Amino acid sequence: MQPAEAGTDSSIGLIDRTIAGGFRFMRFPRSLERRFEADTGPARSRELIVRSLLGLALFNVFLLSDWALMPDTFGSAMLMRLGIVTPLALMLLVITALNPPPVFREGVQAAIVVMASMIPPVLILTSERPWREAGHHGILLVVMFATMIQRIRFWYVLVAVIAIEGIYIATLANLPGIAAPPALSYNMVFAGGVIFSLVASYNLEHEQRLAYLLGLRDRITNSELETISRSDPLTGLGNRRSLDEAFEALRGEPEVAVLLLDIDHFKIYNDSQGHQAGDACLKQIADIISAELHDGTDAAFRFGGEEFLVLMRRENLANALLVAERIRAAIEKARIPHRAIPMGVVTASLGAASSFGNPQTEPEDLVAAADAALYAAKRDGRNRVWPRLRQGDRPRRSLQPRYSARSASGA
Ligand code: GH3
Ligand code: MG
Ligand code: MG
Repeated sequence: MQPAEAGTDSSIGLIDRTIAGGFRFMRFPRSLERRFEADTGPARSRELIVRSLLGLALFNVFLLSDWALMPDTFGSAMLMRLGIVTPLALMLLVITALNPPPVFREGVQAAIVVMASMIPPVLILTSERPWREAGHHGILLVVMFATMIQRIRFWYVLVAVIAIEGIYIATLANLPGIAAPPALSYNMVFAGGVIFSLVASYNLEHEQRLAYLLGLRDRITNSELETISRSDPLTGLGNRRSLDEAFEALRGEPEVAVLLLDIDHFKIYNDSQGHQAGDACLKQIADIISAELHDGTDAAFRFGGEEFLVLMRRENLANALLVAERIRAAIEKARIPHRAIPMGVVTASLGAASSFGNPQTEPEDLVAAADAALYAAKRDGRNRVWPRLRQGDRPRRSLQPRYSARSASGA
């Protein structure tokens, strides 16, 4: 089972095209078929096992009928039902429990039902009792069980049922003493039953596959909506809603640090270079921040307008300040032109705060402290991190880019 839906436009498109195409040949395009099998295979194996056990029990109850109709071949009936088919089926079910590939899983079922269908013919053709003829009815039950209860996948059951039909015709043709009119009637009824069962089998599988596709489509759409509802469309970072959830998830953490970043002189940037350039700049800054973060423990959010928030798990203030400084330096180094100010490039100021090992610290208090620090950084001249790292403040880890290759040139 897939943990999360890897939803893409193309997978939705493929599903829609498959539904529209009708998959009349009962097969999805390769990637979808693989996913269908991965999603439904294990449950299908379990279902087959439970139903097979039920079928086997019923199959052996028919010993009663064998004994009543053909006591002279009852020994063979016992041997074939209890000594051959039952143990063989149980053995194959053990393999089915290991969730084998569909070819094996469905193929085994098809083989078992063909085998089961051969027992009445053997008994009828070897018995000498007058009522033996009635034994042929049981074969239709095998067909119904295979197609409608076991619901062996259509192509497999089609082959099995054609084989059973052949066995049935051959049995009646070779049964000594059967008159032509009842033989014709039996054959027609049996063929009718076979056709109905195959239509039912086709429809059942088609409906099951369609339900799967519609369900998968819903799952993908929902997971995409989930992602959209938690991310900022411009920068792709988490939005305020996902920030609230992230704070909630960090409750009780021994140490949490927060960085608040605000782009310097961004109003003039917009005024002089246009709102679209402003948007592009925001996106670029968001990418720079993301590249400096430690996947898994740090996360960046668009806090509002041109402010970003970085949430750091298990980080003390000294470490947070080092990361803040790295982000500040990376933004400056990116040299995004800002023609309206003497500096000539876009810069940002950052305020940092940490919970100082107090797991009871409220998120609002952390953010307020980071905001106050940011305000101080602005007042102190912008393009800086606040508070200043004091002498003696030691980070727990080195300032080396801890993170991915993207930030390898960062610090
Ligand atoms: P300071 O250095 O003190 O932060 O100055 P500032 O001009 O950056 O400060 P201020 O907070 O007054 O300006 C924020 C500006 O950010 C206002 C608005 O033009 C711009 N802004 C906010 N959100 C967006 C956005 O989504 N897109 C664009 N292009 N601009 C935005
Ligand atoms: Mg601002
Ligand atoms: Mg600003």
